[in-house]
Amino acid sequence: MSRRHNFCAGPAALPLPVLNRARDELLEWAGVGASVMEVSHRSGEFVAVAEAAEASLRRLLNISDDYAVLFLQGGASTQFAAVPLNLSQPGQSVDQVVTGQWSKKALQEGRRFADVRVAANSAEQNFFVVPPQDVWQTHADSAYLHYCPNETIGGLEFGFVPEVSTPLVADMSSTILSRPLDVDRFGVIYAGAQKNIGPAGLCLAIVRRDLLGRSREETPAMLDWQVAADNDSMYNTPPTFAIYLAGLVFEWLEELGGLNEMAATNQKKASTLYGVIDGSDFYHNPVERQSRSLMNVPFTLVDAALDAAFLKGAEAADLLNLKGHRSVGGMRASLYNAVEQTSVEVLCDFMKDFERRYG
Ligand SMILES: *Cc1c(COP(=O)(O)O)cnc(C)c1O
Repeated sequence: MSRRHNFCAGPAALPLPVLNRARDELLEWAGVGASVMEVSHRSGEFVAVAEAAEASLRRLLNISDDYAVLFLQGGASTQFAAVPLNLSQPGQSVDQVVTGQWSKKALQEGRRFADVRVAANSAEQNFFVVPPQDVWQTHADSAYLHYCPNETIGGLEFGFVPEVSTPLVADMSSTILSRPLDVDRFGVIYAGAQKNIGPAGLCLAIVRRDLLGRSREETPAMLDWQVAADNDSMYNTPPTFAIYLAGLVFEWLEELGGLNEMAATNQKKASTLYGVIDGSDFYHNPVERQSRSLMNVPFTLVDAALDAAFLKGAEAADLLNLKGHRSVGGMRASLYNAVEQTSVEVLCDFMKDFERRYG
């Protein structure tokens, strides 16, 4: 078998033990003589899988009964519309913070449904900084404040949880489960699965129950969190295989010791890579130090003309998916939970060697 070091930003690497288990169970699962993809979502066996996945997630993130856990579809992007439809009435104002490409997309979608007031925007600083909260303009009469704690493309991460009087809504697609989280500080957390959870298409939402039942009259049933909550995320046929796999990932995290353990591992991976970048004049990361992402590390080479040679050499060294996002250029290494320290070390060795040869 030749699995290579995968730094893809998403869909991202999955833990090998999880993939092995899914392979072992693929044809014959849970003693039913069929795969998990081939049975009713209402069957006892599958309902047990969905319940176990939710229970495991609740333990990992210490989610209280005040919150509903929803397995939704359409990725995180669908929630850009679901958030205003569920939490605001027509004409009502909402606050949004813009710190990169994803919060910008959320803003564009938000504007289709709500009167969006931009509380802060770091576009003028190329999204290399997180505006400190004391310069934000928030409004107590807004329906909520939306932000993106980790900007996957820019590699920018908030070092603080905003303090607001309105419900706090966070797109945590690329940071959820990377470390412990104080769920109680949020009204709604949502995350597309393909970074730290499981296969693409699935989206997890953690919704404070008092925020359910506020949706607009015209909200499609499939976007209405209350409908999902009332139907245990099975209003229609859920993405059963994705939920099953997410459950295996949660189990894997628990076996590893949970999110404190993961935080330490992730910290180490990130500091290994940032150490190489900062220790050279050849590589550069433009993000202000205190706002650098643990999960997504963009970097440029001193001369962009070397990018192609870097990527070619990386590929030959079994280092995959390092090309930066088209809007940023350069390179990006995503260091999600399933990426191991050894992979980061192979990458760092390659970078040092490349610098020696081309620097
Ligand atoms: C990947 C990502 C998304 C988009 O997720 P989809 O599942 O493709 O809709 C949204 N927000 C953030 C922060 C992401 O990293």
